[in-house]
Amino acid sequence: MLISKLFFPVLREVSADAKLKSHQLMLKAGMIRQSAAGIYSWLPLGLKVLKKIEQVVREEQDNVGAQEMLMPTIQSADIWKESGRYDDYGQEMLRIKDRSDRELLYGPTNEELITEIFRDNVKSYKSLPLILYHIQWKFRDEIRPRFGVMRCREFLMKDSYSFDLTKEDALKSYNKMFYAYLRTFTRLELKALPLRASSGPIGGDNSHEFIILADTGESQVYLDKSLLNIDIHSFDNSEASINKMISAFSTPYSATDEKHSEKEFNEKVSKANQVVTKGIEVGHIFYFGNKYSKPMKANVLNKEGKNVHVEMGSYGIGVSRLVAAVIEAKCVQGVMKWPLVISPFDIAIIPLNNKSDTAPLDKARKIYETLKANSIDVILDDTLESPSSKFKNFDLIGVPFQIIIGSKSSEDKFEFKELNAKTEMLSIDEIIKKIKKLKG
Ligand code: ATP
Ligand code: MG
Repeated sequence: MLISKLFFPVLREVSADAKLKSHQLMLKAGMIRQSAAGIYSWLPLGLKVLKKIEQVVREEQDNVGAQEMLMPTIQSADIWKESGRYDDYGQEMLRIKDRSDRELLYGPTNEELITEIFRDNVKSYKSLPLILYHIQWKFRDEIRPRFGVMRCREFLMKDSYSFDLTKEDALKSYNKMFYAYLRTFTRLELKALPLRASSGPIGGDNSHEFIILADTGESQVYLDKSLLNIDIHSFDNSEASINKMISAFSTPYSATDEKHSEKEFNEKVSKANQVVTKGIEVGHIFYFGNKYSKPMKANVLNKEGKNVHVEMGSYGIGVSRLVAAVIEAKCVQGVMKWPLVISPFDIAIIPLNNKSDTAPLDKARKIYETLKANSIDVILDDTLESPSSKFKNFDLIGVPFQIIIGSKSSEDKFEFKELNAKTEMLSIDEIIKKIKKLKG
């Protein structure tokens, strides 16, 4: 991509309402624009990151055997009346009537719809266990939409639903999701902690929130410092290993506000190890048994030929919120550095040319073509702007690697810079090798 062609409407100043650095950066870098309170358009740069995060989430769901599908954003009110949640959900639900006066709604979540699909199509325990998921826009008429896409009204969520014959099996599905979630957040270079949580209106008796520690978060969290040192790479997706992982994460004290007990915290955790901080909720998993299968009659025949309610769980990840959460974690003093796996581009080429000397730009164009031919997603600054203005733009775009073509470059070695890190002189072949290796 040539920067002169990228639809990249930079804002140097943003309104005082944008309090979080993620909100400010997303506006400044032209990633999003608000179209109504808590409703955003995703411009090319923002959409690229969003899609890449979505892909990481998808790969980790597939890795534990969940199957992707797609349910609509608009649902019939009837199924919500069956589950009993139509009235309970309150004003957060956007209710709509069609031309025939039928009651519809813009889905805030999908337990009812997936239960209906399951009930109409699955009759036997032989089809279990089953985990289905989709990545779809949700609408919640939040009372105070704020902080950009962190708490908005229309947002992209990955929601999975598990179906099992017994509670024991349902907890195995729950544990698989627990594992998939930690892998997902680790791949996004986030330290996310699973914390015991109250399950709120979705209901159920086993629930964890996945929280990223950040001063700007809305959730209060209490934890034992040792939780921060668990290395998730030492676990794999076998049942035994997943169980080990869960026990490693469940033993040290951790809780959100609702479940916190000051007494237990003081008894279990030494003062030196106590961490009390704020966090951003990026995921939430629930086991809720037959809360929906019972009222909606989602039954299967068990081995003895008896009709039983299926055991269910649901599992959400805020895909669009994650874009902002990664910025909160990775933007340091106004300089954004995306993890390579979700960066809008793999590498940037920044020639330090001007009107009277276009040699650096000519050189840059050749390198640009070579990188593209090697399937590297590269952005070239082909403008005649000053170096400082170019670097200011790249602080916003956050591409983690840059090739700078200026006075230090020789015929075949160029300044290869990792943002906020070191610079080395490398040849194009060395740069290609390096990026390919990092991309895995
Ligand atoms: P919160 O406590 O932040 O309001 P929630 O408990 O209502 O979230 P869930 O129903 O658990 O959210 O939804 C799953 C995930 O969807 C959340 O963990 C969060 O990452 C994301 N999410 C929920 N509400 C919003 C929102 N208004 N804007 C952006 N993302 C959201
Ligand atoms: Mg929640």
